[in-house]
Formats: sequence, C-alpha cells, structure tokens
Amino acid sequence: MIDTIISRGITDERVIEAMRSVPRHLFVPSEDRRQSYGDYPLPIGFGQTISQPYIVALMTELLELRPGNRVLEVGTGSGYQAAILAAIPETTVYSIEIIPELAQQARERLEQLGYAVHGKQGDGYYGWEEHAPYDAIIVTAAAEHVPAPLIAQLAVEGRMVIPVGPPGGYQTLWKFFKRVDGELDAYNMGGVAFVPFTGAGAEKHHGQSGFSGNRAGW
Ligand code: SAM
Repeated sequence: MIDTIISRGITDERVIEAMRSVPRHLFVPSEDRRQSYGDYPLPIGFGQTISQPYIVALMTELLELRPGNRVLEVGTGSGYQAAILAAIPETTVYSIEIIPELAQQARERLEQLGYAVHGKQGDGYYGWEEHAPYDAIIVTAAAEHVPAPLIAQLAVEGRMVIPVGPPGGYQTLWKFFKRVDGELDAYNMGGVAFVPFTGAGAEKHHGQSGFSGNRAGW
C-alpha cells in the first residue's frame, strides 16, 4: 500500500508515516480484511465505504497540516481517515458522522486503538461550530455544493478538501484556500467517485451554491 501511494505521487513524509502506522485492516469488516491494503474502497455497511488508500493519502496531503492545526472531518465512516489525521503529530481532530451506528462504531474503534479524535453524530452540513475555526476541513462524501457553514468555519489561510458533483457518478475533488480577505481560491484536483453527502442540510439547500469566492477553475 505504501509503495502504491508513493508511486502515485504522495511525497509528504508525515502523511506516508501516518499511512504506514495506522492498521487499516482493523477499520474494515472482518470478512474483507485480506483485501484491506489493496488500493480500492471497501464496504463498511449502511451503504457506505472506507475510501481507497491513495485518495485518503492525497486528501490528507492536500490539507497541508502543520503542528498545532485543528482539523474537521465530515463523514467519519469507519474512522480510518480520522485515525490518519490523528496520527499526524500535533493535530487536533474533530469528526462528524451522520449515521448513528457508524458514528458509534468508529468512536469505540478509535478509542480502543488510542487515536485522539473528538467525534460526534450529526449532520456535517452545518460543521461543528463550537470548535471553529478550523485550519483544515476534509469532507469525505460528495456534495452538490460547498456548504456555506463549512466555508464560514474555515480559518483564514485554512484549507478545505471536498468532492463536489452529482451523487452516484464522478465528482471533482476541490481544494479551497481561504485568503486573508476571506475570499476562496479554488484548485481542481481531478475526478473522484464518492458516496453522496446526505442529510437535511444538503436537502434544504439543494441547488444552492455555498461558494461565493474567487471562482477560478469552476
Ligand atoms: N472517511 C471515512 C473512512 O475513513 O472510513 C469514509 C467515509 S464514506 C466515503 C462517507 C461517509 O460520509 C459515510 O459514512 C456517510 O454516512 C457520511 N456522510 C454523508 N453525509 C454526511 C453528512 N451530512 N454529515 C456527516 N456525515 C455524512
């Protein structure tokens, strides 16, 4: 797995070390354990998936985490991505999952394995206001637009990585950078396929663009 992510272009040593240290096989259902280090997503129940290792590494690298950074993940799923974030030294990790059973399982798993992740069950469309602002936000489900509350909760000079596009097909992985003047710079990082962003927030704001900054690349 490590050779694969390096051959596909991951260079950040802290990300590679985190990917090396987190036991991915403990985040997949026992019947799929033998496949857990292959470069593909695997089912985790409730119609959801644990993302493929390369995409986990790429999204983590794109967050450009620095010591002392606070990061919010939307879509805890198995807890694997949250563990990778927590394995990067001196990060504080918050993670939200909408499916109660997955949120509970991930919380227990992360606790058992000793990863310091602050987890909560809820609709990540609205972020986690209480602990904002975040230096980095990672969304691991495909949204039709960038939720405005997440933009608001991103710190100045913060980075957000989010797949945006129609559910059920291919989306574009976007990286946003919040400038000092509050505007966003957008970078197209290529095509991805994620499970849909669900919940009342996304439904209520369907058809709305939560992104109102510099539209370069859109
Ligand atoms: N990061 C996860 C991991 O490492 O296993 C994989 C996430 S899976 C591709 C996407 C997750 O996003 C699913 O668990 C899904 O339930 C969750 N999700 C979808 N919409 C959400 C929302 N509005 N708020 C929070 N979680 C959401």
